[in-house]
Amino acid sequence: MPTMENLKTTKKNTWCPKCGNFGILIAFKKALIELNLERDQVVLVSGIGCHGKMVNYVNTNGFHGIHGRVLPLASGIALANPNLTVVGFAGDADQYDEGWGHFTHAVRRNIDMTLIVHNNMVLGLTTGQATSTSQQDFKTKSTPYGVIPPMLNPLTHALVSDGTFVARGFAGDMKHLTQLIVEAIKHRGFAFVDVFQPCVTFNYLNTYDWFNEKVYKLEEENHDVTDRDKALKKAFEWGDRIPIGVFYKKERPTYRDKLPHLNGRSLPKMPVKDIDITPLLEETM
Ligand code: SF4
Repeated sequence: MPTMENLKTTKKNTWCPKCGNFGILIAFKKALIELNLERDQVVLVSGIGCHGKMVNYVNTNGFHGIHGRVLPLASGIALANPNLTVVGFAGDADQYDEGWGHFTHAVRRNIDMTLIVHNNMVLGLTTGQATSTSQQDFKTKSTPYGVIPPMLNPLTHALVSDGTFVARGFAGDMKHLTQLIVEAIKHRGFAFVDVFQPCVTFNYLNTYDWFNEKVYKLEEENHDVTDRDKALKKAFEWGDRIPIGVFYKKERPTYRDKLPHLNGRSLPKMPVKDIDITPLLEETM
């Protein structure tokens, strides 16, 4: 049974004090406790960036991958063993820049797993360059005249790619974020949660105060999570009011459902001794 105590690791935390990553870490641990998931049944995958240390700070199975490759790794694990709870953690540059090519296809495939993106709208680990979700005109080391193109909107992309669970949270509201993560992990299919994660060291624009002034919860407006057109409209909202919560969810078959030969079985447990691949090899000679 997971507890705050046994989810702790011995690794020294090196995030900057008050970094938004702490809010996500605590919300995630609380979600594991609420779901009562056995620690050895949970696998975390992270990419490159400050967020990547999530696998060092949660005492479950973990795989720290390379830049932009959270989704291929997490997809492979989830496909191979349906008995595991697979959660990918990525950063905004990690997922929406380096790993962008994997995003739409993961949403389309609907493999049963969760993706949580620590979206601080800047590159933290490499000391403050712009990413695809940095706001226009944001001046950084890599954009001294300000960011030129408009921000990438990952929620609208997930919605038009037939995403089955599309949500956004805020690291400054841990209670709300915990419930979003609980719901995402429970969802059968690919659950995507973008999280506003203030980088207190390099993002001087999108701060806790900035978000606190603007974010509001969709559930307080009785948003209908089954209406994709309305979800899209909400996902485009930006400015004085920015929505968080579940934008959209629906059921559709997972990728594994369409592979009847697997029939719910775990690949690591399937016998291999009677499989003769000689004809296959000969065919390729
Ligand atoms: Fe957090 Fe930014 Fe510090 Fe990285 S650089 S640990 S994102 S505050």
